[in-house]
Amino acid sequence: MEFQDFHSIEPSEVWNRLHLTPQQRGLSSEDATLRLKRFGPNQLPEKEGRRVWQMLGDQLSSLMILILFVAAGISGFLHDLTDSVVILAIIAVNAVVGLIQDYQAQKALAALKKILPTRAQVLRDRVWQILPVEQLVPGDWIEVEAGDAVPADIRLFNAHLLAADESALTGESVPVEKQSDFLSEAKSPVGDRKNILHKGTMISRGRGQGLVVHTGPHTELGRIAQLLEGAEQVQTPLQQRLDRFSRKLTWVLLLICLLLFAVGLLHGQDWLSMLMTAVSLAVAAIPEALPSVIVIALAVGAKRMVSRRALIQKLSAVEALGSTTVICSDKTGTLTQNKMTVVRSWIAHPEHEELFYTNMALNNDVNWQDRARELAEGEPTERALFLHAFHHGKDKEELGESWPRLNEFPFDPKEKFMVTQHQQPDATFYFLKGAPETVLHLCRRDSLAAEGLGQAQQMADGGLRVLAFAWLQTSTPFLQLDVATVHSQHWELLGFAGMIDPPRPEVKQAIRDCQTAGIRVQMITGDHPRTAQAIARELKIPGDIMSGQELEKLSDDELGTHIKRMGVFARTAPKQKIRIVQALQSQGEMVAMTGDGVNDAPALKQAHIGVAMGKIGTDVAREASAMVLLDDNFATIVAAIREGRRIFDNLRKFLVFVLAGNLGEILTISVALFVGLPPPLLPVQILWVNLITDGLPGLSMSLLDEEPGVMTRSPIPANQNILERGLMGEILIGGILVATASLLAFYYGLKDSAAVARTMGFTTLSVCQLFMAWAISSSRPLGKGFRFYSPTLLAALAICALMQVMAVEVPSLQRLLHTEGLSAEQWGICLGLSVLIFLIKKMPGFSMERNLPNEEHPPQPSPPVA
Ligand code: ATP
Repeated sequence: MEFQDFHSIEPSEVWNRLHLTPQQRGLSSEDATLRLKRFGPNQLPEKEGRRVWQMLGDQLSSLMILILFVAAGISGFLHDLTDSVVILAIIAVNAVVGLIQDYQAQKALAALKKILPTRAQVLRDRVWQILPVEQLVPGDWIEVEAGDAVPADIRLFNAHLLAADESALTGESVPVEKQSDFLSEAKSPVGDRKNILHKGTMISRGRGQGLVVHTGPHTELGRIAQLLEGAEQVQTPLQQRLDRFSRKLTWVLLLICLLLFAVGLLHGQDWLSMLMTAVSLAVAAIPEALPSVIVIALAVGAKRMVSRRALIQKLSAVEALGSTTVICSDKTGTLTQNKMTVVRSWIAHPEHEELFYTNMALNNDVNWQDRARELAEGEPTERALFLHAFHHGKDKEELGESWPRLNEFPFDPKEKFMVTQHQQPDATFYFLKGAPETVLHLCRRDSLAAEGLGQAQQMADGGLRVLAFAWLQTSTPFLQLDVATVHSQHWELLGFAGMIDPPRPEVKQAIRDCQTAGIRVQMITGDHPRTAQAIARELKIPGDIMSGQELEKLSDDELGTHIKRMGVFARTAPKQKIRIVQALQSQGEMVAMTGDGVNDAPALKQAHIGVAMGKIGTDVAREASAMVLLDDNFATIVAAIREGRRIFDNLRKFLVFVLAGNLGEILTISVALFVGLPPPLLPVQILWVNLITDGLPGLSMSLLDEEPGVMTRSPIPANQNILERGLMGEILIGGILVATASLLAFYYGLKDSAAVARTMGFTTLSVCQLFMAWAISSSRPLGKGFRFYSPTLLAALAICALMQVMAVEVPSLQRLLHTEGLSAEQWGICLGLSVLIFLIKKMPGFSMERNLPNEEHPPQPSPPVA
């Protein structure tokens, strides 16, 4: 709508401007289609990615490449034009390879941004429907409740205890109360418009209805969207670390190259060719592809995780998953199936049986979808009760006519109860339902209550979730229905219902997997300790049990000392989750924490990996999380951790391969120059080796399958750098091996001629690196589980090997790369040395053994819940 000041006009005027009347009960689909054409879909324009030419520019603009360009130009001018052209061609190919990697990284990142579609509750054609938010148009009548993301700008005409977190828009972190009967000044700032809900903000509590007044780019959010577009995906800690590392490395390499240049001059080499050699070496050895390969590895990993039903929203989650040490999981729906069924009930007074089921039906937020097929939509606990009441002759829909609901106190996980108010001709009825101890506390205490408590405990010991029901009746309704009012009354107990929620079948195995992988599992539940304990025992979750009340009494330090032996937290309030996360973090744990409600958001943000539920979770929880479980299943977290470990391993392998190779190149040239030999490689050859080894083999390293036993070793300590754990030693050894082989081949070739020697050194340098890639692809030594078979890597290596053979044997390439054809014997030497290096590298004692499963000290499972 062109009109902007919906916050300052009377409701009747709002309807007028939107060309609607309340009696229409929502837009018709035809009208909605017309409006959609006129106003466009309710979405913000997407930010464009970097363009291809920008990326290409980035590739070519690095300082070393510029110097190389210039040097090639001068050298072409002074000596040999073909040489310069070849150098430029190799740089171009290199740039294209880099570009492809960059592009893939960007594409993978963009794919991650396509988060789950959000939906909204809309009244259209006089029925409530769930529609994708893109289809909303001005004039739509919609309902929102706690946990929803506000889908458009909405003028409220009905608000019940409604508050919205508008921090995304205004920066104000305290939720703003919303009221429907409030008029603000036309010029009032966004934060003061109490009768408007703004797109992009979150409902933190209550419920409300209103009319969509603006959609997509016309919303307040849309108008400031330019401001938000600047926000880039933040780098993950790993990326930052590697960035810092490669910046330092770059300086070291530049120094080395400068030194080489000087030494070469001292040994009487021609300055221009020495400059070319030094700069080519710098170009080859500086690992400029590192950042994009990391992004690709993480993003490709994220994609694989989606196929395992774990949607990654923040790339940092992928790497954090690899070192997770504790998973704090909700019980209901994550460890259990959330398929509640009432299996037992206990009624206090037989004459109140009718009232018991009436309460059960009316104090309920579920509605029929299809009564004939007994389909009802809603929260599982509520649905179980709804259907149970129906099976006992109390149908909420039928009762609703004679027992209209006039007011309610919605379910609050902190209070653990809800109340509804119903009008009868001569009295007002209040129905209460909630956790047994809370409800009993509000009821008159008599022998019956004591018997009831015994019954409830028995049900809980059997793993049942127990809810209690109570009622009261007054001649005049209470002025307010708030916590204080509920607590000031004497309620009368009606009875209990106990429902089963069976554990998910695959969870038991997943918990066992966690134990062998050194990951602790802690169950956090709002349910009763007895219920929680019964389920924990069934799932074999080890550790002690603590209730929310006990937790409340502990200081942060005390909690820290106890936290490691806990297996279950029961009757916890959502806000206690954040203390649990912090206590774990204070003990150096890497914490994954699940959550679904509005109140879980702070803990989800605080955890290293906030995990939201895709099915039952609120938008708020999802927004705060790094990962979403599309199937709400605990086992999916474990699958994602497994994937995280694989990715971490592969990144380490990639780093060893690339850095050892680069080191090998540097050592080969430096050693030769220092001992007074001619440069063993020409600039074009250095660049060629780099082209062969950096492209395909490096990339296929990130696609390697997982190591056997990834889930039988302890997690990598969170504070440990990826470059630690002997990685540097490994790189050093690899580099020395490669250089030794190349120099030996070069030295052997000097018998014939400098050109043959160079060809042999050049060939050994690249073939040796290919074997090295193969050796690194499995961390197991030969004969101790080393696997020869990784199809992608082998294909990549075969292609590279073929390219190298062509570089040596195809006459036109010989001319371009200054190589000579090699005899069988010479080939044999190059190959033999490479195989020898492979064998040395794969000798027991040389491999990444610290990465191997800890067979002597496997992680110890702790005893199950007592
Ligand atoms: P978990 O924490 O295991 O995932 P949950 O999130 O369902 O379980 P809460 O929703 O916090 O737990 O519920 C805590 C307690 O509040 C329940 O054990 C029950 O006693 C009570 N309760 C749950 N749902 C309702 C409801 N709809 N009406 C009244 N009381 C409820």
